[in-house]
Amino acid sequence: MKYKITSNFLAKESFRSHAHNGIDFSMPIGTPLRAIQDGVVKLADYGDINAGKTILLHTESKTFIYGHLSKFIAKNGQHVKAGDIIGYSGNTGFSTGAHLHFGVKEGGRYIDPSPYVDFIQNMNNPSFIAKLQHASDIVTLNGLEFVKILSETLSSIKLQFINIFIRDVDYYTFFLQIMKKAFQILTAHSCFLYDMFWRIF
Ligand SMILES: [Zn+2]
Repeated sequence: MKYKITSNFLAKESFRSHAHNGIDFSMPIGTPLRAIQDGVVKLADYGDINAGKTILLHTESKTFIYGHLSKFIAKNGQHVKAGDIIGYSGNTGFSTGAHLHFGVKEGGRYIDPSPYVDFIQNMNNPSFIAKLQHASDIVTLNGLEFVKILSETLSSIKLQFINIFIRDVDYYTFFLQIMKKAFQILTAHSCFLYDMFWRIF
């Protein structure tokens, strides 16, 4: 664990009137904070109360909350990719020391952020970032590539079918024409052939 957890989810502490709705990580001011998933950033500044400078990262199903920041990097409404630096940790708002308050909301309710602790602990580890950015590239490419390849394959199959069909029709017509011609030649010369047959034998 790189950053010491100083308060857990649902912790009851004397200075708070409610159970803790996130996890607190003791963190030096100015630690880069990264987007946990692709999403849209909303900025909130509560001044000296609440979580001070706060980032709400809205993803498809969840909202990730980063509190007590010293500086915003992402702009309000900005689309970010997983691993992008969105701000720097700090000690703003109602805080007893430099730390990151990290919360997760789903369906309007705060949920346990435990599954994301590993991300927070490793978010500035270069190999972790590389893997994360690579993974998000692969996912993006796969999605787009899949649709592209599928549509290309389908149109190619369609074209090939049309080609085969046209070619077969041509062969069939060609074959019919040859047979017709052969029949015409045969009937036109049948008497001659008949005569010749009897003359020879
Ligand atoms: Zn907190």
